Amino acid sequence: MNLVFRYLYNKYRPEGPRWLPLAAVYYLTYNCPLRCAYCSDGTGAPYYSLTEEALPLSEVKRILTAIRKSCPTLILTGGEPACHPEFVEVLGFVKELDFDEVILTTKGDSLEGLDDALNGCVTRLVLSVDTLDPGKAAELCGGSVLEKTLHRIKYLSTLPGRRFEIYVSSVVGTFNLDELPQVSEFAEKAGVWYAAQPQLRGVKAPAGLLSDGRYRGFYDSLIRKKRAGARIFGPVRYLELLRDFEKFECYPFTMLVVAPGGEVFYPCLEIGHKLGRIQDAPDADALRREGRLRYGSKPLCDNRCHSACAAEYAVFMRHPECAIKEALSSALTSR
Ligand code: SF4
Ligand code: SF4
Repeated sequence: MNLVFRYLYNKYRPEGPRWLPLAAVYYLTYNCPLRCAYCSDGTGAPYYSLTEEALPLSEVKRILTAIRKSCPTLILTGGEPACHPEFVEVLGFVKELDFDEVILTTKGDSLEGLDDALNGCVTRLVLSVDTLDPGKAAELCGGSVLEKTLHRIKYLSTLPGRRFEIYVSSVVGTFNLDELPQVSEFAEKAGVWYAAQPQLRGVKAPAGLLSDGRYRGFYDSLIRKKRAGARIFGPVRYLELLRDFEKFECYPFTMLVVAPGGEVFYPCLEIGHKLGRIQDAPDADALRREGRLRYGSKPLCDNRCHSACAAEYAVFMRHPECAIKEALSSALTSR
């Protein structure tokens, strides 16, 4: 089922009986050796504190197979996905499943020797960098990985035959607002994409961030760069929404979010009702029907969830022209 049909279904039948997500997010493992000060799931708990164990490869394969039946786009995340003890084998299996798009989010310090595993599997590699200062990064994230991450970005950006896009991604907080312009310049110089999302504690940004004039100034600078054709993630409308913390209509069923053990969240990670394991369900439609029976339809939320996924899909649903323009500009500025 192609992406355009999925898009139209979510836009015009948001309460329809089918669950045709635009992207599936799989939390391969919640484990992570780092302790980022801003780490937060939808309830405010750091991912590394969640006790659900990662599953062995055989069970991960069942989960990924079920996800592939429901969705052609996979976001593989965590925790730190590279912490999964069979991470390389997981990448190999993802490659076999032939998703249209695979986005891997990671700190990127454990990717040495994985060029071949990444190539042909991943289409977008998202590496987290919040500052270029190693001491500050270590203080912020409880571990010294920044130099390895920066080295990996430089190495991969010039890798012959690379078939995936690289994104440098920052969490924007009052703790790093003065340093983010240098991070975005680093991405520009390396010829890769740059993405920035506000820090959220649970579903809301900390009050100090909203009132910090540097926050607005930083997003204004990204908007100027985007308009000038730089590789900045997301349409201008999306960057404006994050800049202004505007309220938006959320489309939670554009995403299928799956916990390490296969549990599907309904209607979204943030509200977090668990529907059952995707590998044991007949299909995503059956899960959605079950969710509606147990928990009702899409909720009407207050102003919240200014995350990359919820906000970007909300903009795309509301403004189809942004989706088209972004797809065209990505095609023109990509490798
Ligand atoms: S790398 Fe990610 S999962 Fe690990 S502590 Fe930092 S934010 Fe949390
Ligand atoms: S705004 Fe969307 S993602 Fe956030 S809690 Fe509401 S439905 Fe869930």
